[in-house]
Amino acid sequence: MHSKGPTMLQLRLIATTDLHTHIYPYDYFADRSSDAVGLARAASLIEAARAEVANTLVLDNGDFLQGNPLGDYMAYERGLRPGERHPMLRAMAAAGIEASTLGNHEFNYGLEFLALTMAGAPFPIVSANLATALGANPAEDRNLVPPYALLERDFLDSAGNRQRLQIGVIGFAPPQILQWDHHILRGRLFARDIVEAAQARVPELRAAGADLVVALCHSGIGPAAPERGMENAATALGAVPGIDAIICGHTHRLFPSEEFAGLPGCDPVAGRLNGTPAVMAGSWGSHIGLIDLELSHEATGWRVTSAHSSLRAIARRGAGEAVLPAVESAPRVLEAARADHAETLAYIRRPVGRLTAPLHSYFALVVDDPSVQIVAAAQSAYVAEMLEDTEYAELPVLSAAGPFKAGGRGGPDYYTDVPAGDLAVKNVADLYIYPNTITAVKITGAELKEWLERSVALYRRIVPGVADQMLLDPDFPSYNYDVIEGVSYEVDLSRPARYDMAGRLSAPEAHRILNLRFAGREIDPAAEFIVATNNYRAAGGGDFPCARPDAVVLSGPDTNRDVLLRYIHNLGSVDPTPMGNWHFAPLPGTSVLFDTGPGARAHLDEVKGLSIEEVGPAPGGFLRFRIRL
Ligand code: MN
Ligand code: MG
Repeated sequence: MHSKGPTMLQLRLIATTDLHTHIYPYDYFADRSSDAVGLARAASLIEAARAEVANTLVLDNGDFLQGNPLGDYMAYERGLRPGERHPMLRAMAAAGIEASTLGNHEFNYGLEFLALTMAGAPFPIVSANLATALGANPAEDRNLVPPYALLERDFLDSAGNRQRLQIGVIGFAPPQILQWDHHILRGRLFARDIVEAAQARVPELRAAGADLVVALCHSGIGPAAPERGMENAATALGAVPGIDAIICGHTHRLFPSEEFAGLPGCDPVAGRLNGTPAVMAGSWGSHIGLIDLELSHEATGWRVTSAHSSLRAIARRGAGEAVLPAVESAPRVLEAARADHAETLAYIRRPVGRLTAPLHSYFALVVDDPSVQIVAAAQSAYVAEMLEDTEYAELPVLSAAGPFKAGGRGGPDYYTDVPAGDLAVKNVADLYIYPNTITAVKITGAELKEWLERSVALYRRIVPGVADQMLLDPDFPSYNYDVIEGVSYEVDLSRPARYDMAGRLSAPEAHRILNLRFAGREIDPAAEFIVATNNYRAAGGGDFPCARPDAVVLSGPDTNRDVLLRYIHNLGSVDPTPMGNWHFAPLPGTSVLFDTGPGARAHLDEVKGLSIEEVGPAPGGFLRFRIRL
């Protein structure tokens, strides 16, 4: 008896992406468990998804090596002995992952550490557009790792018969890696355009015998048509012939989802990019992505006849901020990294550097302040290095930072307060509480002044010659207040604020910023500056004048917190004493009242260049000070 019709086979692709060394369900910066992260949780979803169907392939999409203190501990402290397997790779193998690709963050610790990591890889890791030397065309590139792999698998068809398939797995990463890790990769690594590499290598992979080609695309959903060197090439890749499915990532989003509704080439319901089935599974183990394929064996070989993409989450948000776990951790994944997790806990509680003076934000809104200073210094060092060898290398690098923790609605204890001496990794989270990423903008001297004018809208208008006026509007959020380091300026509180709380120009004749100087000279409104800031500000958070689409010259891949952590780690000992680059313009016979946390009392003698004295308790548990202008 022979079967009627073609042979059919169901195959479920299961994907993780951007795990960033999140194995345990643990937030190392907060030093407490978290139900929102961890491959151990995702592995339980993988196990269930595998049990439901006959044939599966479990794939990871890169950015596995860096991204939390476990990754830093392995690279900076413990290192890998030749032949030793990185705990992340052990955990991935325990979760059933069968292949992966290189993401941009695999390069953060340098090529030597990556080589040691790769040497211990328990499954193929492929990348088709990264090379140690470029040839005349992509096929002649000397790739850093194999451009693709053929995974031979015995699957069961729908009639229950064994079918041997060769699954081609090919990898891609953003060519911007060369800019982001320029200082460690210069002359040693080269990148090719993702679509260009795919057009050359996918036919090669087909010719090598692939029955099916899956692209591990460590790149996000972007324009539908190729643009040379594009960072987010997943949609454009969907139009390259010969690719049957795309695992995408890098931007840490969810696909299919409503978030991508209306984007050209993008079907956010069926989960297709230029017609090709695709999935993106968040980050840090938050989700797994599934692509359920139906294959039919025809005269020309195996062909995808239908596809369905979906996501499964390890947790859901309940009422308010509550995170409700959907699964337990998979014990074998926890076991694979048990010792490394314990060592990481010791690491985050141990010093990474030393502070020669205390770091606190009690006076950050009234005087140049150490908690703002250290963030600004780390940002400008990072941006200056990133922009080396670019057209912006000659421009002055300034840095904008603000006191995120400065009382207000957060209450009298909501301040940064780290004593002098040893600084632990977990303290760094206290210095930079938002998960922003480093960004640099190019602006003019005129825009720089407007940036500061918008910031100092924080202050109430002060009447000269009058005593004890309240300085701050308690409703103005301190995250919309930036100090800019690298220039000097005065703030005249007797003038009306040029902007209102929402960032609208409310007093077009008014200017509070006086004597704005760079290197001692008054700033030319037409002069150009680079300002290091964060993605929130550059994208329009607080409606600052830097938020022009064409102002961004660098969207760095790292969080500002990581930039700060590495800065402290590299320096070893940090002197956070502020430069005193800004102050209030003198208003003789005038005083203002300023409420801050009671912890400020212990640091009053560190305040320089300001006439300030304690008044007494203030409403809400704050402590009131008088400043003579
Ligand atoms: Mn990532
Ligand atoms: Mg990435």
